[in-house]
Amino acid sequence: MALIEGSALVTKSIANEGITTLFGLAGGPIVEVMGYGPQYGVRPIGVRHEQAATFAATAYGYVRNEVGVAVLAAGPGVTNGVTGAHVAFDNCMPLVIIGGSGPQTGRYSGTFQETDNVPMFREITKMAVQVDSASRIPEYMAMAFRKAKTGRPGPAYLDLPSDVLQEMVEEDSVHWPTDYYTDAPPQGNPEQVARAADMLLNAERPAMIVGKGVRWSEPTQQLTGLVETLGMPYLPSPMGRGFIPDDHPMNFNAARSTLMQGADVILVVGARLNWMFDFGRRFAPDAKIIHIDIEPEEIGLNRKVDVGIVGDAGQALGQILAEMEGKTDGVKDRAEEGPWLTALREKAASNAESIQPFMEADTTPIKTYRLLTEVRNVFPRDTIYSVDGQITLATGRQILPSNTPASRLNSGTNGCMGVGVPFAIGAKLARPDAPVVSVNGDCAFGFNSMEMETAVRHSLPVVFIVNNNSGIVGGNLESMMGLPEDYGERVARYVQDIRYDKMMEAFGGHTEHVTEPEDIRPALERAYAASQDGIPSCVNVITDPMEQMITRSNRASALMGY
Ligand code: ADP
Repeated sequence: MALIEGSALVTKSIANEGITTLFGLAGGPIVEVMGYGPQYGVRPIGVRHEQAATFAATAYGYVRNEVGVAVLAAGPGVTNGVTGAHVAFDNCMPLVIIGGSGPQTGRYSGTFQETDNVPMFREITKMAVQVDSASRIPEYMAMAFRKAKTGRPGPAYLDLPSDVLQEMVEEDSVHWPTDYYTDAPPQGNPEQVARAADMLLNAERPAMIVGKGVRWSEPTQQLTGLVETLGMPYLPSPMGRGFIPDDHPMNFNAARSTLMQGADVILVVGARLNWMFDFGRRFAPDAKIIHIDIEPEEIGLNRKVDVGIVGDAGQALGQILAEMEGKTDGVKDRAEEGPWLTALREKAASNAESIQPFMEADTTPIKTYRLLTEVRNVFPRDTIYSVDGQITLATGRQILPSNTPASRLNSGTNGCMGVGVPFAIGAKLARPDAPVVSVNGDCAFGFNSMEMETAVRHSLPVVFIVNNNSGIVGGNLESMMGLPEDYGERVARYVQDIRYDKMMEAFGGHTEHVTEPEDIRPALERAYAASQDGIPSCVNVITDPMEQMITRSNRASALMGY
């Protein structure tokens, strides 16, 4: 009879799920889970900090439309990964975290790295439990994957004590769950669907808001079908971009406020009416809301809803389209000729015109608009952008396009700084053929910049760009709560013009250092060429420390670039 180790059961469970990559930092007692990877066809990616493991795994899962997996060494390794669970939870993204812990047998005796991990994860996961025996590992793993993926996606945490991981069990005696998902995504209630179709057909000023919750059914056809059948303008959320290509003429990201305030019927799909959409308060008070979400409790939160459809986005949108069949004659033509689209087009054009001078600005130090305009002009249509940092996010929202599904990653629902570098690493592994560009403010970049070494070591040719304005919020010192300026300087400003490219030089990647606007494009082109040769790069661009955001509103959503 063959014996199998607990760690191998974990890795084999991951492989059985069809997952081919896991992220972690090789430390006890989970190092063997990584070590068994090649035996079961799972590529272990060793990172430099566990936070990056959970971030990269989350992005990997999001871009691939599967569950990300991170393995965390015991004690501080596990606590380092907590922020990743928080990010996956707040962004509704599927992630399974395997955390190591001290032996079950030595509880409360002061064993090495003893921590009670489960309570730490309980509030920020869909499930957090400790595995009690090696033979039950496949069962727990199946539970974790099902929890992570089913309904509203999210993270699940499994705590693996060292003696459970090291336990040897008879392979034949292990029960392997199979077929532990339904393959039928939930459909919307037909009556609600009919009412939604009717409302949209009779709207004078219809609009759609598309959020990143559509990722999991990727209903590009249905979304495009709806906007094109009705002549309906839409607004993608920051990460809801690309499911309809950004260059679609019905995309009114450039007239966001006009769309939200002016619409009389708003279809919200796969998005929450949280701070990002001002809790629905910017919609006209009498606007009718149709909300599609897989999570029933989300519907009606913060804003009265007229039609709430609980179900999968792809299914519900398909049902609405089917319901409209034969009833749409002339609807699109009326919309095209009507004042609603005209007003939106005028607003979008005037907004585009107002930022044009910033995009072309020839000043030294370089401005963020100019930098991101050059980025947009160099990288191809299917580029995956991972954007992080306040001014960078705010400007990126206006300048950087996303034209393919799940090709936009950013700081997300809880505005987590530091995701830009590891998200890009996860994305490159998930979609190796797509160009991946990580655009970071220097503050955000600082959190996980060591992961550029991970990219070099694992041959992941990401272009890492640093929008280096030597500090936080463009040196917006007045906002330092009345502190004397020199004190504020030391809190919010960094050493001037740091050469982050030198970090990449030390790691062995391609480097660029840019101070003049006319040098941005050639530097980006060289970095892109290096990435096509399989070499990651760091492009360090010195930008204006005194740059203020053009968006002056104090709303959190404006500050975070939403
Ligand atoms: P965004 O930040 O893009 O506005 P959010 O993360 O706030 O998006 O919201 C995503 C929403 O999508 C969540 O409320 C989640 O429950 C929902 N969701 C997740 N999966 C699906 C799905 N398959 N169908 C419909 N809604 C979904």
